Amino acid sequence: MESTLHRPAHQGTSRAPPATVRMAFDNSYARDLEGLYVPWKPAGSSAPRLLQFNRALADELGLDSNEMISASGLAVLAGNAVPALAQPLAQAYAGHQFGGFSPQLGDGRALLLGELIDRQGRRRDVALKGSGRTPFSRRGDGLSALGPVLREYLMGEAMHALGIPTTRALAAVATGGTVQREQTQPGGILTRVAASHLRVGTFEFFAARNDEALLRRLADYAIARHDAALIDAPDRYLGLLQAVIERQASLIARWMGVGFIHGVMNTDNMAISGETLDYGPCAFMEHFDPAAVFSSIDTEGRYAYGQQPVIAQWNLARLAEALLPLIDTDAATAARRAGEVVQGFAKRFDVHWTAVLGAKLGLAGSAADDRALADDYLTLLQQHRIDFTLGFARLTDAAAGNDAPLRALFGAADAALEPWLIRWRARAEADTNSAQRLAAMRQANPIYIPRNHKVEEALAAAVEHDDLAPFERLLRVLEHPFDERAADSAFAEPAPLEQTACYRTFCGT
Ligand code: AMP
Ligand code: MG
Repeated sequence: MESTLHRPAHQGTSRAPPATVRMAFDNSYARDLEGLYVPWKPAGSSAPRLLQFNRALADELGLDSNEMISASGLAVLAGNAVPALAQPLAQAYAGHQFGGFSPQLGDGRALLLGELIDRQGRRRDVALKGSGRTPFSRRGDGLSALGPVLREYLMGEAMHALGIPTTRALAAVATGGTVQREQTQPGGILTRVAASHLRVGTFEFFAARNDEALLRRLADYAIARHDAALIDAPDRYLGLLQAVIERQASLIARWMGVGFIHGVMNTDNMAISGETLDYGPCAFMEHFDPAAVFSSIDTEGRYAYGQQPVIAQWNLARLAEALLPLIDTDAATAARRAGEVVQGFAKRFDVHWTAVLGAKLGLAGSAADDRALADDYLTLLQQHRIDFTLGFARLTDAAAGNDAPLRALFGAADAALEPWLIRWRARAEADTNSAQRLAAMRQANPIYIPRNHKVEEALAAAVEHDDLAPFERLLRVLEHPFDERAADSAFAEPAPLEQTACYRTFCGT
């Protein structure tokens, strides 16, 4: 695909003069990784409207919110103008999708505008998603429908508030145009902020082309950006693999701790940074079920809730394969060393998952039977089809001395709960004071997650009736997931079981 990458920059169709907004881009990707991208320009929007803007994130990035929401800011967020220091580009990547390898994916409807150094000195990508065709669009139209743009905004911000590493949403724009999916829909553009957009699939792209020089450049770039401590390490490529494994082991455990199902864990959607990337058909589980899957295209349950650790390890094995030529010049040695590191994922996941469960149960320290205690609670939740989020939120109430809500949640299964509660109390009370335990549990067990029916309700109002009020109300609730508020009680309730049973998410993005 050399020819694609060296195609001259598209001359663009920008409708407005260059933006005057101050965005202090510093573009290391464009500078250091020539050959890994195509310079490109956004297609532009016909009648853009700013639907959401994230002022807190803008502050973090050192942007002037008032300027960003002005006409010249909107021109940037709508792809109608490019700020002076931006160097928009489409990144090349490949990926294993549902187990099959696609050698050329790449930014087919997204563009990296550039990188900002935030107030804490962290380098952050600012990218548009839904900004028009690129050389990587294949048969796609390069566009995003507005519903999925708002969905990604909401889900990503909810994950962030839950304390889980994720890309962020800076803005959502309605383009004024339409996109053709199963039905005609309004178009949208998301402005996404990420620690980087390096993916497992970025490495696979160059490995598949046996381009060791570019592969090495990419790996050195990833190390400098995400694992600077490894820069001079003799085994730095193996170290990079190890570091990505550690971040993913932690991330997946944290997803599972809030009932999150990514839904499309293809290797092109797995970030080297350890952030959650690409909110397509993701959903939060309601009643606990390891086999839970909501995505309409995941007919085999490959990416079901409980499959996520196994799939993560599978994806990391693909990363390891891509890195082999850098790990050792002797292929057999490289394979053996990388293989050992990848095998280590299962153990690291288990450590993180045990810690997540321990925190959810309010257990300080660790005792030999903790994992069995946690697993037995999950079994109870599964057997009695108890809502996962409420199962832990009401356990937190029980830790505060109020058993009634937990018993009510279990209903007729209350008797089955009793022996477990006795064990839990004995363990929990052995090692901490109750005030500490309660504070820790409150931080580990959210009251509010993006309930599927609430998300759909908010998106339908926004897309079909141009009414953003339910979206904004839901967003406000999800920004503070841990403190229970009487006025928000409707947001804590699961959907009726019949509704959850047939809930499907669509990739129609
Ligand atoms: P996703 O399923 O969103 O992670 O995307 C997988 C691949 O398909 C990536 O290479 C995307 O850039 C590309 N893609 C998805 N939707 C479109 C679209 N509407 N137009 C062009 N490319 C797309
Ligand atoms: Mg993707």
